[in-house]
Amino acid sequence: MLKVLICGSEVAPVIKLGGLGDVIGALPKSLEKLGVDANVVVPFFLTAKTENLKIYKSRDLLVPYDGNTRKIDVYVTKLPGSNVDLYMLKNDEFFSEGGKSAFLNNLAEIKAFSFFSRCVAELIKGKFNTYDVVHCNDWHTGLITHILQDELGISRPATIITIHNLSYQGTSDSSIVREIGLDPGVHKSIDWDTSDGDINFLMQGIMSADFINTVSPSYAEELLASQDSSKISEVLISRKDRFLGILNGVDYSSFPRDFDKTNWQPGKSGAKTRLLEELNLQKNDAPVFSMISRLDPNQKGLDILMDVLPYIISSGGKFILLGSGNKEWENKFREAQTQLGAQNVSINTVFDSELAVRIYKGSDFFLIPSKFEPCGLTQMISMWYGAVPVAHAVGGLKDTIKQGKTGFLFNTYSSDDFKKSLTKCFNIYKSQLYFDIVEECLNQDFSVDKSAKAYKELYEKAVQIREDAYGSVCI
Ligand code: ADP
Repeated sequence: MLKVLICGSEVAPVIKLGGLGDVIGALPKSLEKLGVDANVVVPFFLTAKTENLKIYKSRDLLVPYDGNTRKIDVYVTKLPGSNVDLYMLKNDEFFSEGGKSAFLNNLAEIKAFSFFSRCVAELIKGKFNTYDVVHCNDWHTGLITHILQDELGISRPATIITIHNLSYQGTSDSSIVREIGLDPGVHKSIDWDTSDGDINFLMQGIMSADFINTVSPSYAEELLASQDSSKISEVLISRKDRFLGILNGVDYSSFPRDFDKTNWQPGKSGAKTRLLEELNLQKNDAPVFSMISRLDPNQKGLDILMDVLPYIISSGGKFILLGSGNKEWENKFREAQTQLGAQNVSINTVFDSELAVRIYKGSDFFLIPSKFEPCGLTQMISMWYGAVPVAHAVGGLKDTIKQGKTGFLFNTYSSDDFKKSLTKCFNIYKSQLYFDIVEECLNQDFSVDKSAKAYKELYEKAVQIREDAYGSVCI
């Protein structure tokens, strides 16, 4: 039986800050159904939701870091709804602040994840060295593959790194390299990386993993076609024969729905009435456009969304936002609400997974104007709840939304093009075409079970690559 350790910064529903948490929460459960023994390891942040979990301390682990030995407590529980072992590493010095907001991008976060990488490597190097594959995710775990290659050599597991978003790379002053116990002059790839003064965690993962993947085929193509001449692009292109895109999927059991394509009309209309009431919006049958997103102005298309908001309202629509992150943009949306009227615009700057489901269910259209989108899960979830996605034709959005059949895509990242798609929404709302599109959305299957099959194949390929390089693992 293939044994895999999935390493990440979040795992839904215990720690969820965005789509990464959804994927790390869903994938191992589907892998388990395919006969893969998948375990997960994350930091034990103070924000972890452990109320309904049977959790116990399995042991202490001594970890060398920054010239000292730190003690971590290894807690174990089961990922809810499965038999998957979830390891949570507790250390209040490094993991007390994390888990509150995605992508803080500060030194404390860098230190926390360089320490986490060292902890996971020590865990694997100890008596846990029974894994066939270690599956790392994003920059948070980027150093693990390097440490394993360097310190376990021939008896290391095969390694994979998944790029969920290339724009977050985890860069830091190169002094962190010493803290983690990697001395300059000894590691060729690290010396090359730090020759410009800093280290890039994600790039280290890309350089040293047996295989690299990203989360949709189109995003994989976009990354390889990228014209930027950064070191990381150079490295990724040089490894293109070990790189592919696997579309993320949804764990539908986390998103219950009480209607399907045969009876959606009363189900959705009841959900819409309750939603309008809950958010104090005027109750009528105007089309409701929603967006649920991290408020990241570099990625999520907030500028063009802000441009088209007056058009949505003046054309008789309503707008609901559930999103948090960038404070400046939270305020801009609140100001737009004041200007456009609280009876038509609802701005909710919190993270609330239950409210998210009520919004998906009660909305007619769902907006995803992202400048780039590695995969995106919100379009899949919105289709599941019959809210028709309107999105920029990029990355995973392009791979999952069928133009005019399950949503509307606009090709150029501009408010004009976005607006043209919104006009189509107003034109078809409540027509036969609209009903057909909603039903086609409800009919889509983006189950994570499909992604799990592709990951299982990838794990097997990585094991083969490792064996070809070193022979079979002898533990
Ligand atoms: P990303 O990974 O870039 O954040 P995705 O579309 O892949 O974007 O996934 C976002 C996930 O986070 C979805 O499950 C979405 O419903 C959820 N989400 C985002 N913002 C919020 C919020 N403020 N409250 C509740 N859920 C949210």
